[in-house]
Amino acid sequence: MSYESLVRESDRNFEYIRSLLYNEYKLAQFSSDDFEELSAFDNCINCGLCISVCPVVRAVGVERFSGPRSIGISISRALQNIIEMRDTLFECTGCNACNEVCPQKIPIKQIVIRLKDKLRKIESKAIPKDVIELTKPLTEAKMFYQPKDSEKKKKIVRRQLEKLGLPYIEDRFDANADVLLYPGCKAEERLYAMKEGAKIVLDKVGAKWTLMDTFICCGYPAEEKGDLDELQYLQNELLKQIEKLKNIKVIVTICPGCTSSIKRLIEKSGLDIKVKYIVRYLIEDIGIESIKKLIREKEKMIVALQAPCNLYRETDPEILHLTEYLLKQIGNITIVHLPSETMCCGGGAFIPVTNRDISNKILKHHILELKNSDATRILTMCPECYTQWSQGIRVFLKNKKELLDFSVLLEKLIS
Ligand code: SF4
Ligand code: SF4
Repeated sequence: MSYESLVRESDRNFEYIRSLLYNEYKLAQFSSDDFEELSAFDNCINCGLCISVCPVVRAVGVERFSGPRSIGISISRALQNIIEMRDTLFECTGCNACNEVCPQKIPIKQIVIRLKDKLRKIESKAIPKDVIELTKPLTEAKMFYQPKDSEKKKKIVRRQLEKLGLPYIEDRFDANADVLLYPGCKAEERLYAMKEGAKIVLDKVGAKWTLMDTFICCGYPAEEKGDLDELQYLQNELLKQIEKLKNIKVIVTICPGCTSSIKRLIEKSGLDIKVKYIVRYLIEDIGIESIKKLIREKEKMIVALQAPCNLYRETDPEILHLTEYLLKQIGNITIVHLPSETMCCGGGAFIPVTNRDISNKILKHHILELKNSDATRILTMCPECYTQWSQGIRVFLKNKKELLDFSVLLEKLIS
């Protein structure tokens, strides 16, 4: 046999064994990048800090969810049969609290996402059906929701705004603007008042703002699902839209997930654009003194805050402090600090659809704290937190406390 035919035969054998391992025995393929990230667990000193802060462990105990540390222990098993890890992976809320306290800075949340991605590749049916169904529009419409007909949408928006006593201003595309308002999928297609509140606030402070001519998801839901290919695709599409706007200096966000995702995208792209959640934008780019001049009457209120995990832990650790500072400057507002204000509300990473029982248990803990406090309202800064709290206040508190979104509150104070 010639040398060439020997090589060809060994290539064929290699391919056969590879496909057997991959398709028949469902063994995941790991690249050197994967191994590098996963091997971070080699540095674990078994201190247990991650377990003590995990909201899922607090809600359901280690018997059901054995905690962030054990995800690391299970990895050696995952290399052989990742399908066995499915339930654990989809019980993590992606709050990143474990990484925040870990003395070895082990990126547990990122590892969970990477393992979900592997799971999807070797056995797509292992991804919970509800998650697949919910995220279908990402491929079809490049956003998390199937967009409504624009006239129908306008009518709903106007009705929602009327109820809140807010004016309606038209969506705007201005290719020369220097501020891009990025509302995120939920504010763009469901929780309209958030986007409208932000538009009004930006108008009032004199920003030269625009929306994108076509809205594209930042990819965050794809990442939470564990589809890194879809994340990459959506981010490429979004970047094309951003690059059309030659004068943009800052992207203003009202969704923490988008803030974190777009910030990473812009850093990778090398574009000279800042990405700021609306609170930071108002303080740094407009200035407190200018905002104060817009306040007509300081409404008195007692509110509790819910820290948004993606912002507070991943992108902008000062955000709670900045928000409190801004609110105190522009309103007659007393902030009540609930003991779990920085803990996940249970609304992340599709937990409300994959594990509603875990999500509710996490939520109930927060609801009880709010119920026993002097706060009459809970103020959220994230569309996911808003949805989660709205269910909690309706179901567990029978609407006895009020729920407010930050952009809407800002608009009310500034008008
Ligand atoms: S990311 Fe949050 S929910 Fe997931 S393991 Fe870490 S602390 Fe627990
Ligand atoms: S906090 Fe970090 S070092 Fe400590 S047990 Fe958890 S993963 Fe290991």
